[in-house]
Amino acid sequence: MSRLSHSEIHMVRRIGWLRAAVLGANDGIVSTASLVVGVAAAGSARSAVLVAGLAGLVAGAMSMAAGEYVSVSSQADAEKADIARESRELRDTPDAELDELTHIYMERGLDRELARQVATQLTERDALVAHARDELGISEMVAANPAQAAIVSALTFAAGAVFPLIVALLAPASWITLAVAMTTLAALATLGGLGASAGGAGIIKGASRVTFWGALAMIATAAVGRIFGVAV
Ligand SMILES: [Zn+2]
Repeated sequence: MSRLSHSEIHMVRRIGWLRAAVLGANDGIVSTASLVVGVAAAGSARSAVLVAGLAGLVAGAMSMAAGEYVSVSSQADAEKADIARESRELRDTPDAELDELTHIYMERGLDRELARQVATQLTERDALVAHARDELGISEMVAANPAQAAIVSALTFAAGAVFPLIVALLAPASWITLAVAMTTLAALATLGGLGASAGGAGIIKGASRVTFWGALAMIATAAVGRIFGVAV
């Protein structure tokens, strides 16, 4: 169905997966580190901190998987339905569809004659691809696999979540909060920089954005831990 070249498809997939992997790992680190910091700040024993962190890992990974599965399948369903409707319209009312495409190119700044020419040539080449891209905004037509997306999100979340857990396991008991917070910020800065450079954006900007939100999350849970740890 797609006219994208092989290398283009790989590019699209690679950037998509890389971005998803970085986001998943990021989520895993931030939420588990915040959980660990919150529980540790309440003065809990290491075992309680680790149980909370491990439960957070499992809960987060499952919720990422479920969310990703639902979002990818509903997006795929919607795109499939759009494409099916479009190909029905192309079969039943080809003239109206050609007019429609012409208008789309006119709205983008071509004059009527040129828009007509472009629409006609693209329709001859592959009408469905032209309508999918320029009318529906579906440029990739790469069938997303919901189960695969769910597994990737869960695994990358877990991989990120393991990191603060290991630090909580190895750090001296009275230093858990500080050790987790510091190593988490360092890991987030690295991931943020990696993600930004993969996306072609500024490394410093990407790193500081992620680090800022991570720090905010840990400050919030540390405050909760302090307040309720003392009160309860
Ligand atoms: Zn159309």
